[in-house]
Amino acid sequence: MERKVKEIIADLRTYLEYLREMGMTSLPISEMNPFTPPLPQVLTLEETRKELGDCKRCKLHRTRRTIVFGEGDPETKLMLIGEGPGYDEDVQGRPFVGKAGQLLTKILQSIQVRREEVYITNIIKCRPPQNRNPEPDEIENCYPVLLKQIQVIQPKIICALGTFATQTLLNTDAKITALRGRYYDFSGIKVFPTYHPAYLLRNPEKKREVWEDMKEIAKQLMEE
Ligand code: URA
Repeated sequence: MERKVKEIIADLRTYLEYLREMGMTSLPISEMNPFTPPLPQVLTLEETRKELGDCKRCKLHRTRRTIVFGEGDPETKLMLIGEGPGYDEDVQGRPFVGKAGQLLTKILQSIQVRREEVYITNIIKCRPPQNRNPEPDEIENCYPVLLKQIQVIQPKIICALGTFATQTLLNTDAKITALRGRYYDFSGIKVFPTYHPAYLLRNPEKKREVWEDMKEIAKQLMEE
């Protein structure tokens, strides 16, 4: 038995080396991880929000001011998913309204899309203290809400903003630099990762790549 496993591993290594020699330096995520979650059955965003109530499923409820559920057109073809609310979002109860949000609005305008025409939300709906990264239990508790939002909206494209949203949706540890600018499958929906607007505020030289990404998204949205 052990010998058989070793043979399989050796065959797989030979195959991967062959692919690399053929110039294939990465594998599509969907092939590595074919088990994207089945989307739950829900009726409306209002019902999903109601079900969430005054959520206390994780420790973030102790420090948050508001639950930032998400906003936009439920009939949209384009959904944008960020990491989690920051200070301004927590105060206003709306996603992407701080500096990063203002840049996101401009990025959308660059492809003639208005904020109201898309749906914007985050992986987690409550602000982590000091804007720290979301922790695994927080994601685990909040992820079902996002899945319901996706199920209701059924967008054509999900633009994953930054490392965190991308890694969570694609269930990978790979770097955003390696993942961005291409489509991945998420239960039949195209996920297109790009850099997070907050990262662009710190690294403006990356704006060009996001511009290329947005042009690709715009092109895909036009195709029916
Ligand atoms: N960053 C995010 O990821 N989401 C927001 O809503 C705001 C900033």
